[in-house]
Amino acid sequence: MSTDKSDAHVTHFIRNIIDTDLAADKFAPRRWAGRPGTRADHDAGTPDVARIRTRFPPEPNGYLHIGHAKSICLNFGLAEEYGGRCHLRFDDTNPEKEEQEYVDSIIDSVKWLGFAFEREGESNLYYASDYFEWMYRFAERLIETGHAYVDSLSAEQMREYRGTLTEPGRDSPYRSRSVEENLALFRDMRAGKFADGAHVLRAKIDMASPNINLRDPALYRIKRGHHHRTGDAWCIYPMYTYAHPLEDALENITHSICTLEFEDQRPFYDWLLEHLRDAGMFADPLPKQYEFSRLNVTYVITSKRHLNQLVTEQHVEGWDDPRMPTIAGMRRRGYPPDALRLFAERTGVSKSPGWIDYGVLEECVRECLNASAERRVAVLDPIKLVLTNYPEDQVETCLAPNHPQQPELGKRELPFSRELWIEREDFFVAPPKGYFRLFPGNKVRLRYAYVVECTGFERDASGKVCTVFATVLMETRSGTPGADSVKVKGNIHWLCAKTSPRAAVRLYDRLFKVPHPGRESGNLIDDLHPESKSTIEAVVEPALLTAAPEASFQFERNGYFVADRIDSRPGRPVFNRAVTLKDSWGSAP
Ligand code: ATP
Ligand code: MG
Repeated sequence: MSTDKSDAHVTHFIRNIIDTDLAADKFAPRRWAGRPGTRADHDAGTPDVARIRTRFPPEPNGYLHIGHAKSICLNFGLAEEYGGRCHLRFDDTNPEKEEQEYVDSIIDSVKWLGFAFEREGESNLYYASDYFEWMYRFAERLIETGHAYVDSLSAEQMREYRGTLTEPGRDSPYRSRSVEENLALFRDMRAGKFADGAHVLRAKIDMASPNINLRDPALYRIKRGHHHRTGDAWCIYPMYTYAHPLEDALENITHSICTLEFEDQRPFYDWLLEHLRDAGMFADPLPKQYEFSRLNVTYVITSKRHLNQLVTEQHVEGWDDPRMPTIAGMRRRGYPPDALRLFAERTGVSKSPGWIDYGVLEECVRECLNASAERRVAVLDPIKLVLTNYPEDQVETCLAPNHPQQPELGKRELPFSRELWIEREDFFVAPPKGYFRLFPGNKVRLRYAYVVECTGFERDASGKVCTVFATVLMETRSGTPGADSVKVKGNIHWLCAKTSPRAAVRLYDRLFKVPHPGRESGNLIDDLHPESKSTIEAVVEPALLTAAPEASFQFERNGYFVADRIDSRPGRPVFNRAVTLKDSWGSAP
């Protein structure tokens, strides 16, 4: 069942920019070759039917996390909203760190979130490494027009020449090389005639610019590294800051949305594309970069390097461990995709950095699952309840609605008999004030069944209560005229001891015990929550045995649970707790 939980769209500065652009018909002249290309390719194409083009450009060097989910929802969401297209582009210009496993998991995550890079006959799935030949040609063009040169300073000298935030840089002695010499050297760089690091290709801009990023940034470096797609075809690789604007321009991107760290790179982004436009490589309107503040969530880390550390040092059971803030982990945990989309929308888009409380994410999960998850009963920490006046061999059937707000989902049958399981915490020998559930002499309703009155209890050898005794008030069965004849304040769930099977249930909690892991301790490993996972054998209602992998349920009064998609077997489901019914973090047990 689909739930439309998206809050009414709140406008934000990127929506305002798009509205203004579209109102001015800014993109009317754009043409599209049907695939990425240079100006000549697009000119030969047709008017671009996409009103805007955005892109999500992950580097395939890890699994995506909640921050990436935000970026996916923003970019794909805007494209959907405005009649545009969003490209999934693997920014794989860096050899060695990138792997096919990550490519596959990223494609999977985007689809699972409910977004499509294939739409109306267009498939916008791209690899930046497919553009290497173009990027090389653009570099030659920059050399030919006097906007790039080969520098042969060592890395250390280059740092020295760059200057500081307060002091201007100095021109490299190689800056005045002729176009012919630069071209010859650059071609030899490509041909593999030099050792790694011997030369770099740099843009010729301004070594005195107050923006250090404009002090002749590097465009290409020599690096012999095996690439996951191009193999050993290249021994020079483009720098990220050079490659990224070119990828956007080749793909006809209109709004290139990134996080604030890239704000200082924007002048170079524009410089590069304007020079290549002037050289006839691209057409106006050029893509524009817009920066927003990255998503930070308390109790969560969103650095791939640190997530990788958790996996390789085995603090978690893999990238998709249900405690991980990866999309794969949240999926396994039972967070539905609409909850992540709701969270992305609700947390807004702005330029001011800040932290979102993890509870906001959990609330989105609750809201979506409350609407979509069918109700079931599980007793997580069972003790026996014996109904002493109920006939030994009798079994009757009680009816429980699958969803209290959606009667059309029907009812299910719960067998009821003399011996039941109830939650340990639903009985107290000497209850605290305000406790309305079972204690000797008190009455509660067994939901969908009868009111019972507690008459006693028994302890096991260790002194723990193991059995509670009660009598049934036979005229109070739910759904009969006598149901309201006895008023009670407590209402507890139960399962028939004879017919209810056991199932493994994993109770997950937050992976870190502090809101900013590593901030105060200096080492995020020290801040891991020691009890973030416990596995129990719960009693579950018979219908849960056939739960399909990834089916979500509300276990009444206990929380939202999902049948684990990896470890569940036919007839032997394993349930993961996605979230409790209420925010209980930090409150005493
Ligand atoms: P990490 O620092 O974890 O390696 P990254 O930003 O280097 O992340 P990329 O694969 O380069 O990872 O990111 C792809 C896209 O996701 C980029 O456009 C980036 O801006 C965006 N993104 C990454 N983290 C966040 C975040 N926390 N909030 C919003 N967007 C993010
Ligand atoms: Mg990155």
